Amino acid sequence: MKPTIPQKKPLLSATRIAEIRGRMDLRQKEWRKESYSFFCKGPPALANHDCREIESPSEKSTGSITGPEPKIEPSEPLWATFATANPVTTNGKKYPGIRACVAFHKVPCSFKMQTEGRGCLHCALSTVDRDVSFVDPKDQITAVAKAIENITAQLGRTPPILEVLPDGSFLNPEEVPPATREGIFRMVAANDDVVQISIESRPEHISAEKIIPLFHLLRPDQYIEIYVGLESIDPFVLHHVIEKGFTVAQFEQKIAEIAGTLPDEYKRRLVISVYHFFNPPYLTEKESIEAAIAMGRAVREYTRATNIHFSVKYEPAVISRGTFQWYLFERGEYTPPNYFSVAELIPIAYFEGFSDQIKFGQRDDIDDFQTVASIPSLENPQMLSAFDFMVYNAVQRFNADQDIWTFFADMQIAMECAPEFPAWEEAIYGSPGKSALSRMLAEYQGRGSTGDEYQGRIEFQKKVGRVLDRVEYGNPEIYRRLREQGREGAKAIPEILRSVFLDAGIRVLQTKKMTFFDTGKIHGAPALPDTHPDFSGATGEAVYQAEIIIGNEAGLPQSVWIKVPIHQI
Ligand code: SF4
Repeated sequence: MKPTIPQKKPLLSATRIAEIRGRMDLRQKEWRKESYSFFCKGPPALANHDCREIESPSEKSTGSITGPEPKIEPSEPLWATFATANPVTTNGKKYPGIRACVAFHKVPCSFKMQTEGRGCLHCALSTVDRDVSFVDPKDQITAVAKAIENITAQLGRTPPILEVLPDGSFLNPEEVPPATREGIFRMVAANDDVVQISIESRPEHISAEKIIPLFHLLRPDQYIEIYVGLESIDPFVLHHVIEKGFTVAQFEQKIAEIAGTLPDEYKRRLVISVYHFFNPPYLTEKESIEAAIAMGRAVREYTRATNIHFSVKYEPAVISRGTFQWYLFERGEYTPPNYFSVAELIPIAYFEGFSDQIKFGQRDDIDDFQTVASIPSLENPQMLSAFDFMVYNAVQRFNADQDIWTFFADMQIAMECAPEFPAWEEAIYGSPGKSALSRMLAEYQGRGSTGDEYQGRIEFQKKVGRVLDRVEYGNPEIYRRLREQGREGAKAIPEILRSVFLDAGIRVLQTKKMTFFDTGKIHGAPALPDTHPDFSGATGEAVYQAEIIIGNEAGLPQSVWIKVPIHQI
């Protein structure tokens, strides 16, 4: 029987919607007219803050130093990485929350194509494959196999969760041929280490008729997770700010249909995870927290109504080239959220009783990112707070642990020592001590002696902090190379970072693409004197940003983000 899902009240009042509309409509019109088109291969026509002028024309306009844009190799993964995830329990065994995330080349998202390249306004996916009209299923399957092999080699084991997440809809046969779907699912069934496969799809392409044959291909102990980009439970945000192309009501009708048709045996092995776009343009950060919690409540309600396990994956907004938030960011009208706001969702979800149904995306889950959600340093806002890595780690690790007390063991130092924490509380709640984080920290401290059981993880994070301090602010070798060799010298940064971590006895699992950007150009900061000619015109806010994945004290991957300024601060 089809379950009934009660209607929800909109989050934003009519007055607030009118106010947002007044500011938004004009900007969206401009963005449509002027902005970088998905179909345009050249750099955006907009003035922007990256240092494109210091790149040779053959290099990527993001300021990447990875060299000329590579040709598409259909049998190579589009990207492959690994990160934390919610743990999976099957056949009475609990598997650790580690996920391999891979994507293969495919035709672009059909929704993007139908909307003249615009797609959902916050999305910069599909760009690399914008000209692709066909990829042989054999190549797509090979790409996934290679990605699993590489990740297994880097990590020393195959993660129990495999996320196959090319953009768009895995369940749309016009985007992903049935032969590819089948080949990947057969590969997963044959892999004893994998207990869950995750895919994503827009709701219009999901049906019980498509899901059941996929279960037939898997072993009975394996789960399927389907991600859906619901993005916001608020109709105005979903329809007007994000322009998602489907409504909350349509999504709810779809899940009711699936729940009414799918046999119980498969419902038990299905997880539906909705993406939530955290901090969309025009919402205040406080409204964004409320909107995220409303999504968590909705997800809890969906689980009750359907007997299918739902979860929400919070995706903090990122500035990705070509998106609407990027357009606003370039004009100083938008900033990604502070990562304390992201962390705040965890104690609130705990108080509300749905903390086991939430998880958090990585900072680079979106292509072509520049500025990500972080904790900017109070002193030098273009740099990360010295405690940013701790908060990011605490949130990412919560994905795997889902344990409120270990989360606070990971958060305590940052909350007690970072000057950015009381400043954030004041900005969001009007005064320090008012956040759910503060309330929960008091409970954590009130539990008596808790430190000992967490000593290993706390000491490890202190060690990471010492390494970051050395590389971000005080590495003479990096500054010497940048001063003497310019961009060429920057190519050595990943290797220098790797060796500093290794010297501290920390295993480096992966070094990711570096990006170069200069937010000083947005507000006309003066150019730096005495820089290498490669950096002429760059301001004091120009930084190289890098992500490194290290192995933590428990052997789990930990993503660490670093900003290296081009001059000594
Ligand atoms: S968010 Fe998903 S559906 Fe929307 S344009 Fe991007 S890939 Fe397509």
